[in-house]
Amino acid sequence: MNPPDAGARTLARAFLEQTLSSEGNALLLEHATREQVLRRLASTGRVAPARGATPPDAGASPAPAVTASEIASARDLESLAALVASCTRCTLHESRKNPVFGEGAAHARVVCVGEAPGKHEDDTGRPFVGRAGQLLDRLLMSIGLPRTSVYICNVLKSRPPRNRDPLPEEVAACAPYLLRQLALIEPEVIIAFGAFAARTLLETKSALGRLRGTVHRYSGYPVVATYHPAALLRNPGWIRPTWEDLQIVRGMLDGAGDREARIG
Ligand code: SF4
Repeated sequence: MNPPDAGARTLARAFLEQTLSSEGNALLLEHATREQVLRRLASTGRVAPARGATPPDAGASPAPAVTASEIASARDLESLAALVASCTRCTLHESRKNPVFGEGAAHARVVCVGEAPGKHEDDTGRPFVGRAGQLLDRLLMSIGLPRTSVYICNVLKSRPPRNRDPLPEEVAACAPYLLRQLALIEPEVIIAFGAFAARTLLETKSALGRLRGTVHRYSGYPVVATYHPAALLRNPGWIRPTWEDLQIVRGMLDGAGDREARIG
């Protein structure tokens, strides 16, 4: 494999510095040819095609979609984030402002999973920000988990237009990223925030009320389902049951295991 040249490296670094807050993205460069880097950068619309290059909408081949095999072989979270930054596996890349990969401790004991980025997340490229994010921080602190100690992400890494429900094909296209994130982090427990995240992870149509209070499994990882912080802002009466769900998580972290837990 030919190493990327200095021009491609400069362009990629500028792009990644704009879109990712973490370091170590040179891994992308180690595995990309100049043409791959330039095609993917141009396809995002964030970097103009190189002078003299054929623009993507003028008959040139579209950038190749990131393959499931590339995702499954990403060696760390930084390389996986670089794949998300250039992902065209579903049409949501066309309307998103920023990909929202996720953030937090690389080997967190707890991974929090929501549905998809909203407006604030799309604007900032960060998961669970705004008022719902602040409430999430307080909920986590109530069981002794500072935000920086957990990992926070969504099922989808790009915002659906006008916050519409994600489509099944979008979930299917994006699922390999979440699976790889979990394989790299190896959490002790996943918290699914909101009905959509819970139903998607658990592959069920059951109501969230029926999924709460029991420890489930997703790809071998224990899952506790509870209300989304945004829903709590609209329904403060659900804060108490959410706190009870989080007590299950606290108990698991304290060594109670992932026994079948039933709460009132
Ligand atoms: S939602 Fe996921 S699969 Fe679709 S473009 Fe974004 S990162 Fe790629």
